[in-house]
Amino acid sequence: MNDNLERVKALIRDVPDFPQEGVTFKDITPLLADEVAFSSVIDVIVVHFGRGTVDKVVGIEARGFILASPVAYHFGAGFVPVRKAGKLPWETEAESYELEYGTETLEIHRDAFRPGERVLIVDDVLATGGTAQATAELVERLGGKVVGIACLVELSFLKGREKISGFDFFALITY
Ligand code: AMP
Repeated sequence: MNDNLERVKALIRDVPDFPQEGVTFKDITPLLADEVAFSSVIDVIVVHFGRGTVDKVVGIEARGFILASPVAYHFGAGFVPVRKAGKLPWETEAESYELEYGTETLEIHRDAFRPGERVLIVDDVLATGGTAQATAELVERLGGKVVGIACLVELSFLKGREKISGFDFFALITY
């Protein structure tokens, strides 16, 4: 497994100053393009939380969709998208949060969950934690129970974990 994680880590590309100066973007496209690495990261998430523990998997736009969908498939769970404001067609709940510059708003369909459904949230990168925190808030507001938050990468120096300390957080790779 450690060898596998080293292989996965080597397939995450650092892109300096993207999308803005000072940010090192963690580009997971080489990992997604590698058939062994892609399936192994999905398997690690599924094994970590365990079959039978999740009813719905929430993916956060846009890279979260790519990871959450195969996780949902392996769990035999449903998939629910969380998107940037204005993209979802049906009635939505919205949650806004602060970014370094300005604010971001995320939305989810109001009928996404049945009461008490067990929900796993999946995204590619946990940075400041605002995105994951806002998503967990949306899930709980709609009556879902957040059983965990899974990311491929945690940028631990940004201390995002502190914002979601009330939840079971799992990251495959920590920088
Ligand atoms: P945050 O709300 O600060 O935790 O930011 C997390 C969201 O922004 C995730 O959906 C990531 O896809 C994206 N993100 C933030 N920082 C990075 C980064 N350095 N590399 C890649 N994606 C990032």
